Amino acid sequence: MDLDIVSIIEKKKFGHELSKEEIAFFANGAANGSIKDYQLSALLMAIRLMGMNRRETVDLTLSMAESGDQVDLSAIPGVPTDKHSTGGVGDTTTLVLAPLVAACGVPVAKMSGRGLGHTGGTLDKLESIQGFRVGLTMEEFIAQVQRIGLAVIGQSQNLAPADKALYALRDVTSTVDSLPLIASSIMSKKLASGAKAIVLDVKTGSGAIMHTLENSIELAQAMVRIGTDAGRRMVALVTDMGEPLGSHVGNALEVKEAIDVLSCRVTGPLLEVSLALGAQMLIAAYAAATVEEAEGKLLNALRTGQGLEKLRDMLIAQGGDPRVCDDVSRLPQARVIREVPALGEGFIQSMETTRLGNLAQHIGAGRREKTDVIDYSVGFVLHHRIGDYVGVGEPIATAYCRNEDDADLAELSIQNAIPILRHRVPPLKLVHAIVEEDQITRC
Ligand code: URA
Ligand code: CA
Repeated sequence: MDLDIVSIIEKKKFGHELSKEEIAFFANGAANGSIKDYQLSALLMAIRLMGMNRRETVDLTLSMAESGDQVDLSAIPGVPTDKHSTGGVGDTTTLVLAPLVAACGVPVAKMSGRGLGHTGGTLDKLESIQGFRVGLTMEEFIAQVQRIGLAVIGQSQNLAPADKALYALRDVTSTVDSLPLIASSIMSKKLASGAKAIVLDVKTGSGAIMHTLENSIELAQAMVRIGTDAGRRMVALVTDMGEPLGSHVGNALEVKEAIDVLSCRVTGPLLEVSLALGAQMLIAAYAAATVEEAEGKLLNALRTGQGLEKLRDMLIAQGGDPRVCDDVSRLPQARVIREVPALGEGFIQSMETTRLGNLAQHIGAGRREKTDVIDYSVGFVLHHRIGDYVGVGEPIATAYCRNEDDADLAELSIQNAIPILRHRVPPLKLVHAIVEEDQITRC
């Protein structure tokens, strides 16, 4: 059969359905460079404007997943289970739930990403621990999960190369915000990573890729359906990103908060959402029948210290300094510490979460260019959540910076991103919906 890219673009331009062969031709052409960037870009825009149906989206995802390495986790006994967040600020759930889930006997073989834009990345957080290695070979990765039930590493270089090529073009052609393109991009990498059960954490709100609840639910359902059609056990939670999830934002600061949670020194939204996601992982892996049973197991692992021990096992296995588990002051420490006072008195109305994430990136917690070097010590700690009352001059945050100029910037940006007014507002809900293939349960 003779396929040509111009007719494929033409077909989608008029809103017609693309065949499996046409989609595979396009994905492979993106992966091996045989289709020109300007033609890929035109097709991406046609997809952005005309959409794709469920079958097309699944075919695109599978073609992208098959365009590179596919990880085989079948040597791991049980149900290897993964969790994926669409990205947030102060979103450290992996560091809390992966050790807890592994301590409950469910193998966690996780490939994580680096920070992207205003969102943080688990790999960067782990690398704030002296010596930690995210670049294991596939053999080391699988052997470690067989031995201790837990490994968190970086994606192999050749994972879903079609997505790599298309994502780079989407970024510069205003085609990121397309539901089938986002869903297929995320799920192609998840499917290629090999987990049998996948729990998705789809964020919603001012710091999320989707700002409205309805769009977030739609994205969650699209991804759950793709995974289900590809034979994986799938569920998604839609959780709030209208404000940072944890109080700590920045790499070493977020590791500290995760260790504080695993040491039972801190509770709150980060623990709550980690338990909600972890419970779905246990259920997906057949290790619990109900949310209550699953949360009971996770809380037991937390209270007996087995979760913290599992984190320590992983640090030892991957070359990281395990002493941070007992002494968080061994993590990188910032030179300049600045209290940020409230400028007014009243209730915290909202948070411009994307701006807060961008601030963290700007003062050195993230990269603006691929080659930028991260300062693991910097970031900020928020002392309040939406709905809290604060008095004028009361500290609303503490900024951790490299120098006084960055501290000035952090102070101003945090004050601007957190409006305080006289009228009372309710706190945000943490979990908005549970999304399964054919069922949406609003919480
Ligand atoms: N993350 C991805 O990996 N792909 C997208 O399209 C959006 C977020
Ligand atoms: Ca991410």
